[in-house]
Amino acid sequence: MKIIVLIKQVPDTDNVKLDTKTGTMIREGLGTIINPLDLNAIEEAKKISEIIPSEINVITMGPPAAEEAIKEAIAMGADKGYLVSDRKFAGSDSWATSMVLAETIKKTGNFDLILAGEKAIDGETGQVGPEVASMLDIPFSTYITNISVKDNGVEVVRTVEDGYQNQFLPFPCLLTVLSNINEPSIPNLEGKIKARKYISDKIDSSKLKIEDEYLGLKGSPTRVVKISTPKIQRQSSIYKGSEIDDGIKDLIKELQKMALI
Ligand SMILES: Cc1cc2nc3c(=O)[nH]c(=O)nc-3n(C[C@H](O)[C@H](O)[C@H](O)COP(=O)(O)OP(=O)(O)OC[C@H]3O[C@@H](n4cnc5c(N)ncnc54)[C@H](O)[C@@H]3O)c2cc1C
Repeated sequence: MKIIVLIKQVPDTDNVKLDTKTGTMIREGLGTIINPLDLNAIEEAKKISEIIPSEINVITMGPPAAEEAIKEAIAMGADKGYLVSDRKFAGSDSWATSMVLAETIKKTGNFDLILAGEKAIDGETGQVGPEVASMLDIPFSTYITNISVKDNGVEVVRTVEDGYQNQFLPFPCLLTVLSNINEPSIPNLEGKIKARKYISDKIDSSKLKIEDEYLGLKGSPTRVVKISTPKIQRQSSIYKGSEIDDGIKDLIKELQKMALI
């Protein structure tokens, strides 16, 4: 079986700051990590390959420094890594990113399963997985918390608002995973040694069948018109001692007004 895992290198922060003038992320001075949910995706690929021997390929689109993310994935147990990098990709929105990833996947040959994180901690759209699947014209499912591999596909459990949903998807298909699917393991010494020597396959725009007009900012239909930080306005009232009974009554009135009780 061949499993592809999409990994994204993200800033090592949960407090992403945006340039309000350009509408882009301020990345300077931040360390990088593999998007945490993508570690779960790698771990799940490993778990599957322990049951059904599989080749695990990781693909990342990013700057040359994203080679580090591939090395980390190799240390965790991936067999092969593709770094998809080109200046022409700069400014890509999720559509342009997905197109590059989908074309790269086509280029790397047949596959059975693609795993991705449900969302990245920086962009946070959660669009890339479903978009890649749509561009490849394969079935997909999101918010996955359990995968069981069968002969011709996967049985999955997906988290929905009011519980769980069981689904079957035939191969080839794409799944986006949540963090409670597994606990990512820490690379062992053997993995670290393999990763240190590992050099990924490089793919640039000349190797993909995409016209220049569909790449990067030019090929990105998303327009960031304005960025602002949401204002949280909280009004508080403090009731002390003998005022507490009145406080409870006021609270009940407010909750009734909001139809919460
Ligand atoms: C107008 C515009 C300009 C932008 N310019 C830039 C820019 O110049 N530089 C920049 O870095 N970002 C830029 N971005 C952000 C960029 O679009 C997103 O980072 C990217 O499209 C992925 O979207 P996301 O982070 O929401 O991923 P999500 O959809 O939340 O990610 C879900 C999963 O998809 C996979 N995935 C996502 N991205 C990648 C990837 N690159 N490689 C492999 N797998 C991936 C991972 O498995 C991830 O867990 C721009 C966005 C917009 C709207």
